[in-house]
Amino acid sequence: MEHECIIRVEYRERRLGKQEFIKYSKAIALRGISVFRNIKRRNMNHLEDKVAIVTGAGQGIGEGIAKKLSAEGAKVIVSDINEDNAKKVAQAIGENAIGVKCDISNKSEVDNLIKQATEKFGKLDIMVNNAGIYPFKAFAEMTEEDWQKVQDVNLKGTFLTTQAATKVMKEGSKIVIVSSIAAIQGFAGLTHYCASKGGVNGFVRAAALELSAKKINVNAVAPGAINTPGVQLPEDQKQQFIAQIPVKRMGEPADIANAVAFLASDEADYITGQILVVDGGWTIQ
Ligand code: NAD
Repeated sequence: MEHECIIRVEYRERRLGKQEFIKYSKAIALRGISVFRNIKRRNMNHLEDKVAIVTGAGQGIGEGIAKKLSAEGAKVIVSDINEDNAKKVAQAIGENAIGVKCDISNKSEVDNLIKQATEKFGKLDIMVNNAGIYPFKAFAEMTEEDWQKVQDVNLKGTFLTTQAATKVMKEGSKIVIVSSIAAIQGFAGLTHYCASKGGVNGFVRAAALELSAKKINVNAVAPGAINTPGVQLPEDQKQQFIAQIPVKRMGEPADIANAVAFLASDEADYITGQILVVDGGWTIQ
């Protein structure tokens, strides 16, 4: 094959003359670069021309998702209850992102979030409901307020953001919710959280059914143990976690962001009502 190529090149050089041959070679090289760039652009920019909201994106998994969606070409509304963090992440992304304060458990703030997105970018294609809280509390000591706060953010917040988003979304839009393996496995100290994420999984399936008529897909990603500011574990506890994970590492926000970006893309058009577990194999044991 190599030999055949050399003979062909020599033949063309003799036929064209040195100068013409150099011109010809340059043109071929430039064409190759352009084809390569187009392939790369096609593979990288799955979300070009899409507008996405990510809640709880001021840090951790949400920040990773916002940055990934932007890297795939989407315009991103970086939203968080912590306005400073939302704005910092938006600034780091650049001109195709804005930071907006929103407490997802508050309906008027959620309505304002959707309004800001459509006013700034003209539409909404992707809603990522990522914001969630997981304050450890022993069941025997849990107060009604402790219980209610977690349901308000994790479960009611998912309902409010999904409902508000789907009022403005067109056919082909995507809802992606960040659930947890706590929806399918028990964790001591997290009865309120496990209940809320179990509720989220049920919500995903029922909402997917109703929204299929509008051709809006609803799916969830269920992370395992992910390194984020919210999960600050002492080293020995971290090692205990890692020992239980088949791939022998904690997950990173990028691991979750990759799965979210896929479910948010047109490539996931035929997937709805599903919970994609991203946990390094923890729950298959
Ligand atoms: P994190 O605590 O690091 O970040 C959460 C972000 O959400 C923060 O920026 C916080 O300000 C924001 N937030 C909190 N309450 C909010 C509210 N009411 N409205 C809007 N924003 C709010 O958390 P994380 O680890 O990145 O987790 C993100 C999501 O992933 C959560 O839904 C969580 O349940 C889920 N999850 C995380 C893990 C993990 O191991 N980190 C595992 C499974 C699921």
